[in-house]
Amino acid sequence: KVQVKDLHKSYGNNEVLKGIDLNVKPSEVVCMIGPSGSGKSTFLRCINKLEEPNSGHVYVDGYDIADPRVDINKVRQNIGMVFQHFNLFPNMNVLQNIMLAPVELGKMSRDEAKKAAIHYLKLVGLEDKAGANPMKLSGGQQQRVAIARALAMKPDVMLFDEPTSALDPEMVGDVLEVMKQLAQEGMTMIVVTHEMGFAKQVADRVVFFHDGDIREQGTPDQIFEHPQHPDTQNFLRKVL
Ligand code: ATP
Ligand code: MG
Repeated sequence: KVQVKDLHKSYGNNEVLKGIDLNVKPSEVVCMIGPSGSGKSTFLRCINKLEEPNSGHVYVDGYDIADPRVDINKVRQNIGMVFQHFNLFPNMNVLQNIMLAPVELGKMSRDEAKKAAIHYLKLVGLEDKAGANPMKLSGGQQQRVAIARALAMKPDVMLFDEPTSALDPEMVGDVLEVMKQLAQEGMTMIVVTHEMGFAKQVADRVVFFHDGDIREQGTPDQIFEHPQHPDTQNFLRKVL
């Protein structure tokens, strides 16, 4: 589904990604952990070309997104992205937020989009909020709407960048629960997270980023119970 080969990215002379290789298989859940500034967000942003890599390749569903003949907007329609801050549109209700992209991009008729929106609102446990203004919802509810909005495009892959780190602690569980359910339903997911419990429980593979490189990767058991690299051991000592 997602293949990354020798990806390099620099900002000026700050080399932020130093040759990343990663293959994510269909239905695989990959959790990325690592210190602040190690390049996790930059890596995710390279996958849907919000950042332009300096070299290397990113293939999504077989399309090389660096290839000028590939329509990046088409590829992006198959990549759902959920950030720390939800950025819902304040001037429309919850249902309209979710319907917007599928209708505007011609992926669905209004009726289809409405059906899909209601389906995904149910999935995230908010069907009773369809007519609400998103600004009147709690942070956790807004984030669940943002997830429903990404899902409404029926993406092949979902990218999450610390979706719970801006939330009040009591909201975190509901959002993680939705993500866990998505994982169980077979969604392909790349999740940058500080929630080690989630990574342990849900990840098929945990990838430890350090200083622009993948230092170590493995099953949750390998990474959390038997980390091999001193950098991984150090990081886990600090966060666990
Ligand atoms: P965090 O856990 O704090 O979110 P991260 O692992 O996501 O960290 P990135 O946001 O990818 O780290 O940043 C990696 C490095 O790239 C940092 O040194 C950062 O200062 C630098 N960086 C990120 N975005 C830009 C930018 N737009 N311009 C210049 N430097 C940037
Ligand atoms: Mg980040």
